[in-house]
Amino acid sequence: MGSTNFDFDLIVIGAGYGGFDAAKHAAENGLKVGIIESREMGGTCVNRGCVPSKALLAASGKVRELANVEHLASFGIHSAPVRFERQKIANHANNLVANVRNNLTKTLERSGVSILRGLGRLEGDQKIGLREANGVDRLLTAENVILATGSDPFVPPGIEIDGRTVFTSDEAINLEWLPRWIAIIGSGYIGLEFADIYTALGCEVTMIEALDRVMPTFDPDITKIASRNLISARDIDAKSSVLASKVEPGCPVKIQLSDMQTREIVENLEVDAVLVATGRIPNSKGLNLESMKVETARGFIPIDDSMRVLVKGKPLDHLWAVGDVTGKLMLAHTAAAQGTIAIDNILGNNRQIDYRSIPAATFTHPEISSVGLSEEEAKEFSKKDGYELGVVRSYFKANSKALAELESDGLMKLLFRKDTGVILGAHIYGLHAADLIQEVANALARKQSVADLAIEVHTHPTLSEVVEVAYKQAAQQLKSS
Ligand SMILES: Cc1cc2nc3c(=O)[nH]c(=O)nc-3n(C[C@H](O)[C@H](O)[C@H](O)COP(=O)(O)OP(=O)(O)OC[C@H]3O[C@@H](n4cnc5c(N)ncnc54)[C@H](O)[C@@H]3O)c2cc1C
Repeated sequence: MGSTNFDFDLIVIGAGYGGFDAAKHAAENGLKVGIIESREMGGTCVNRGCVPSKALLAASGKVRELANVEHLASFGIHSAPVRFERQKIANHANNLVANVRNNLTKTLERSGVSILRGLGRLEGDQKIGLREANGVDRLLTAENVILATGSDPFVPPGIEIDGRTVFTSDEAINLEWLPRWIAIIGSGYIGLEFADIYTALGCEVTMIEALDRVMPTFDPDITKIASRNLISARDIDAKSSVLASKVEPGCPVKIQLSDMQTREIVENLEVDAVLVATGRIPNSKGLNLESMKVETARGFIPIDDSMRVLVKGKPLDHLWAVGDVTGKLMLAHTAAAQGTIAIDNILGNNRQIDYRSIPAATFTHPEISSVGLSEEEAKEFSKKDGYELGVVRSYFKANSKALAELESDGLMKLLFRKDTGVILGAHIYGLHAADLIQEVANALARKQSVADLAIEVHTHPTLSEVVEVAYKQAAQQLKSS
């Protein structure tokens, strides 16, 4: 490291969470680091993802709470009709974005990272081309290169985006206006979070899902209870097994819905706006991956568990990739974890990632979270590896804290091995599910047995006792099996 033959010890392309954590960790360990960014520092999460969406969810969540007259009346509280200012809610999100972006940029500068503005690309082994905004093209060299170029919203064919009446989450986070009636295409976590925001702020929502049930990526039992509260109980009309085959922007927006199987047109809708939340595609075009003979899989860069880029299954020596562009669990904390692991390996400390212990959360009101295997996957593994699968359910309605909050609709499902007690997965719907999952994720990462976890004391009264009850039930099954 620190060789004078190179301009940098490390160049990172992309300053999202993956690139940021990699660059910071590398600089703190004495490497000479350059980070290339073509747009705003902080990438999707800071500018168009986690940060602004959580600010909108926080504000709209308060509106929902104050507008829920019946719920408040159960406490003996009678509030005045709620008023809110859309622009001020939008400003709250924008200000938070500016703050977080500023802090992140200063952190990198303080760590001694050189921030290079422009579009980066590979120019062969240990060589990077940098196209600056003024058109100047520079060739840089680096001992190691990390690709952290993230992802962009996926827009299916037939859907035309104008950014005003038909848009993706990139525009939705600006909350420029509140459509009276909005169709949300896709019922994954982004669609659900925006449905939560829009309905809290008084919009009517039609949710369009191509697969045969809404929330197709969630545990079926969690979906049953969550969709009752997050969809059926709200001003949302959910349609599944239908494809939004054509969407034309305008006033109104025209949507053509086709049957998913037969592709026959089944309905035409006219709405005020459409949010397209149909997943994300990797940002790998234009990286000149061919110069290193890297072949992508649907645009995703193949890597091993040390974050080394693979060519025909074999790891390259100096080329690494992290974050959404690798197509693993496409979340900010995954990108950050991958970034630090790549650096540890560059520094010679052999480290590998364990994707199974990375939790995921949907920040609806209430929240949904999960870690590890789905029940279906766990069943397959248990058959293949020859052990019995344990499944226990713990309910929020038996939890004093949830009852005190009058928010006792919730469920935790825990999947574990009946021979060793090791946790395989967990799925939670209920108040603060996003915080609750962390305890299970840590236990899963440490491969702890439910027998040991069941004797750990949890604070009373807290929601964490939902997890404690699940551990205790699971430990009981170990004893009786
Ligand atoms: C609405 C929404 C809500 C989300 N909420 C959450 C959440 O609550 N929790 C969570 O964990 N995740 C959330 N995510 C996902 C999260 O934002 C991503 O997983 C995360 O941003 C991925 O980080 P990354 O570093 O891989 O890529 P990105 O954040 O996409 O950053 C990549 C960067 O690379 C730059 N770049 C690309 N190509 C080049 C090039 N050739 N040269 C120079 N620069 C380049 C891009 O401009 C970008 O800044 C959300 C996403 C969305 C859209």
